[in-house]
Amino acid sequence: METATTARLVLLVVLVAGSAWAVQAAADESQKAPLIHALRPMVGSAGDLGRRGGVPCDSWRLAVEAYNKRDWRTVPADCEGYVGHYMLGGHYRRDSRVVVNEAVAYAEGLKLGGKGKEVWVFDIDETSLSNLPYYATHGFGTKPYNATSFNAYVLEGSAPVLPETQRLYNKLIALGIKPVFLTGRTEDQRAITVANLRRQGYSGWMKLLLKPVGFKASAVGFKSGERKKLVDAGYVIVGNIGDQWSDILGAPEGARTFKLPDPIYYIG
Ligand SMILES: [Mg+2]
Repeated sequence: METATTARLVLLVVLVAGSAWAVQAAADESQKAPLIHALRPMVGSAGDLGRRGGVPCDSWRLAVEAYNKRDWRTVPADCEGYVGHYMLGGHYRRDSRVVVNEAVAYAEGLKLGGKGKEVWVFDIDETSLSNLPYYATHGFGTKPYNATSFNAYVLEGSAPVLPETQRLYNKLIALGIKPVFLTGRTEDQRAITVANLRRQGYSGWMKLLLKPVGFKASAVGFKSGERKKLVDAGYVIVGNIGDQWSDILGAPEGARTFKLPDPIYYIG
């Protein structure tokens, strides 16, 4: 009798423990399940994301940065939040840091000729200075470019520095490589551009090359032409950094080019 009771008790304990384990296992499974489910459309070639929402914003950004997507006019409307988070949430700074780390390592490894002829070309907008305060209040590139409001912003001279680029800039000066600013900003914006650059801590550049007012040429045409003048004058362009492919395409490009991220606008 007592043995039978004990046996029943043991069975009960086993059953309770077993069901508790089963409940725990089910709970674990339910915790894991959403993750697996969420990953499915991301890795599948026929994922729902592509069918329902167009190209996902991260794929769109990659296509833009790799220059597979060209001549685009605005950020896709449903990517405004994505681009905003990318720009303001730390990812943009991290990506920029990787670019500049490579540029600094490259510059440190250069053997200079000793005649002070080595120069490095810097773009200004979204490279040396950031217009993020403007774009943050204008849809992060989802709205068509508005020259009137953008130029009004430029003329405030309040664009903040891009700290990673400034780190490279200061490093180059310490190494004896002369910075040259080459920008699509026009000559009539020289004074405010100089003031803005100085306010943000830039000094000691060799040249500031701006586009003549009314100059009709593509960005590649203008910028490669200005780089050719530098080379013809005996300078060696050891590096060239910009946020647009049009900053770094067109001979002479420079011995090495560096592309900073810019998912907000495209200049061809
Ligand atoms: Mg730029």
